Amino acid sequence: MSRQAAMRAAVYREPGRLTIEERPVPRPGPREVLIRISHCGVCGTDLHFVMDGWGRPGSIGGHEYSGVISAVGSDVVGWVVGDAVVAGQDVGCGQCRQCRNHRVSLCEAQSDAAMAEYVGAFAEFKLVGAEQLHRIPSELSLREAAIAEPLAVSLHGITQSGIRPGQRALITGAGPVGMFTLAALLVHGVEDVVVSEPSEVRRALAERVGATRAIAPDDLVVPPLPFTIVDEPYDVAFECSGKAVAVESALAGLGKTGTLCLMGTGAERPRFDAMRVLMNELVVTGAYAYDENGFVRALEMIASGRLPTDLLIAENDIGLDDLLHAMQQLVAGEIGGKLLVAPN
Ligand SMILES: [Zn+2]
Ligand SMILES: [Zn+2]
Repeated sequence: MSRQAAMRAAVYREPGRLTIEERPVPRPGPREVLIRISHCGVCGTDLHFVMDGWGRPGSIGGHEYSGVISAVGSDVVGWVVGDAVVAGQDVGCGQCRQCRNHRVSLCEAQSDAAMAEYVGAFAEFKLVGAEQLHRIPSELSLREAAIAEPLAVSLHGITQSGIRPGQRALITGAGPVGMFTLAALLVHGVEDVVVSEPSEVRRALAERVGATRAIAPDDLVVPPLPFTIVDEPYDVAFECSGKAVAVESALAGLGKTGTLCLMGTGAERPRFDAMRVLMNELVVTGAYAYDENGFVRALEMIASGRLPTDLLIAENDIGLDDLLHAMQQLVAGEIGGKLLVAPN
């Protein structure tokens, strides 16, 4: 079988512009494998990189992918051509305080440069370090396995929040992060979850996934005084929109000793109600990337059949040529659920 020499990739060129270009198919280094991409999800981060111009011209996005190994580096042990895999997180340096404390996603040796040079999976093939691989359970399709990464993000938010079964939760923003958090909370035994979201399409989807109620952001009450608690306060609020006003109203919706967990990325800075935090002993925390065993747990949860993957994944997969248009639709909130690109 002759090896494919060139591949197609969606390359970021300038804010709001992607072009489909030919790139050489990369060759794996000694400890790498080459993956033929099956599916790759479109993330809010990808939208920021392309639509808001966070990306470096020439870069390729896409970090939520599944695929099949098509070439294996000379020193790789335990993986062969044909294995179905997802790539998990960078393994970290193993030496720094965070790595030793099992907080690998916060590794202090990680550089911004490495992030800027990321070559992603909005392409037919992608290289990845063998130590990052996770095997896809045989009962799971490559398509469903592609949501392991965003689900691992949601599971990390749940861990960081410390929420317990039976508590009451608010989710602000029902894009994929919010929607996956909702679904994972229900599996976790948190059954009273209210979702706040401006898009009607996404509100309707949140109710089908199992939200107690889906409301418009304007329906959230922000009491003027810091010691006033709203009617029906929340134990935990998961902020998944990245919008400053949503951070403010999520904090205001908490009852005494409640926790706000920040999961949405955005550049706008909210106004911080320090007196509300002080008087009600609130906790504000963030969730960046994954728990140490997050991908294993995510794959197990998907394979368990307890998630409504038919609702969580957008119905129609797209090709690379349709990616830019789809990104515009995602920004407008016209697509509910996780959109998957099938580059091959
Ligand atoms: Zn992502
Ligand atoms: Zn480290």
